[in-house]
Amino acid sequence: MDFNWTDDERRFRDRVRAFLHRELPSDWAEVARHGPGSAEQTAFSRDFCPRLAAEGLLVPHWPAEWGGQGRPTWEHFILGEEMWAAGEPRGAQYMNVNWIGPTLMRYGSAEQQARYIPAMAAGNAIWCQGFSEPEAGSDLASLRTKAVPDGGGYVIDGQKIWTSYAGLAETCFLLARVPGAGDGKAAIAIFLVPMDTPGIEVRSIPSLIGHGDIHEVFLTGVRVPASARLGAEGEGWSIISYALANERVGIPRYELSSRTLSRMAARLKDEGRFDDPVIRARAGSAAAACEAARMLTYRAVSMRAKGQPAGPEANIARVAVVEADHAVSEFGMDFLPGAYTAGGGNGGADDAAILAHHERAIVAGIAAGAAEIQLDLVARRHLDLPRGAA
Ligand SMILES: Cc1cc2nc3c(=O)[nH]c(=O)nc-3n(C[C@H](O)[C@H](O)[C@H](O)COP(=O)(O)OP(=O)(O)OC[C@H]3O[C@@H](n4cnc5c(N)ncnc54)[C@H](O)[C@@H]3O)c2cc1C
Repeated sequence: MDFNWTDDERRFRDRVRAFLHRELPSDWAEVARHGPGSAEQTAFSRDFCPRLAAEGLLVPHWPAEWGGQGRPTWEHFILGEEMWAAGEPRGAQYMNVNWIGPTLMRYGSAEQQARYIPAMAAGNAIWCQGFSEPEAGSDLASLRTKAVPDGGGYVIDGQKIWTSYAGLAETCFLLARVPGAGDGKAAIAIFLVPMDTPGIEVRSIPSLIGHGDIHEVFLTGVRVPASARLGAEGEGWSIISYALANERVGIPRYELSSRTLSRMAARLKDEGRFDDPVIRARAGSAAAACEAARMLTYRAVSMRAKGQPAGPEANIARVAVVEADHAVSEFGMDFLPGAYTAGGGNGGADDAAILAHHERAIVAGIAAGAAEIQLDLVARRHLDLPRGAA
């Protein structure tokens, strides 16, 4: 197996890095500190993503007919690593690039594609993902929001929770149950709902990852036309499975963890503390966790690049990414506790970046599907253990 990048891939990475170096402002670490769903980072992404698009670096892996260049999966992944390591300056728009756009390309009607995809490719669209509900997170199939057929369209009633970006999004990728369409997963349909539709109320939930990041969304008598439904009524769950397979390998957090660890090591060297054998051993095991997460993620990406379906390899990779996050975070807390004081310590951009990594590491094992659920899937699909074994 050859783990080396090709010359083309190296050149592509250099190009992305040069663009970021040129285009990110000197106070970017401060903007990123507010959180990916904050007004500050969203405003920044509305300016940054069109520049990325003009450079051909927003959706290079998309087909040419949708504004891309049909570039290989690995380039898309390199782009993700560099963006994520830089604090994700695309903000919410990373979701469009990774999974909402590709899902609409595959399942959307011609009208939906024409309405939504060009704005995503131009870097001008903020979406939110309305999946989780108060009683339906890990067990998404038990969601209760209803879409009742009415006069050629649907009337939607229910509640979503933990919805990232909802306060500033223009459109929601919403899951709801169509009564009478069957049980469980079979009754779930997807709706593309403009957030200014009457009957939608968004309430912000205070959180440690940044103000304005997560929300409750209340839907009361929200009327949408049948043309807002994505795919057929019984097709919702298979579309979601496709969308989530793209979403979940799409966040190369280990790259941010690895670079954060390097910042920490540099600080400890400056302070003359890196010769301590305990510090060196702990740094080494955190670095090993990052590299393990990288290799396991590359395995899952390699399968995707070959057109193979996402298997347990993707679940294993996600658990490894969460463990790497935590190893780096715990290393920093133990040996650079000053960086974690309110306001991001006093080490300037370095402390702000270390604190931002830590806050996101806390939620990394919950958002986009809890790590325990991934372990459960690994136990059943990979280790072949029986369901419910102690
Ligand atoms: C920062 C953040 C952003 C988010 N953004 C969005 C978003 O934009 N859109 C959206 O729809 N959702 C979003 N979520 C919600 C996220 O997807 C859910 O929190 C997650 O799926 C877990 O669901 P839950 O919170 O209902 O917890 P639960 O499902 O109730 O789980 C609680 C605990 O029990 C464990 N558990 C549950 N079932 C099992 C099981 N079968 N086996 C073993 N352990 C189990 C879980 O691992 C977890 O530790 C976000 C969450 C966070 C933290």
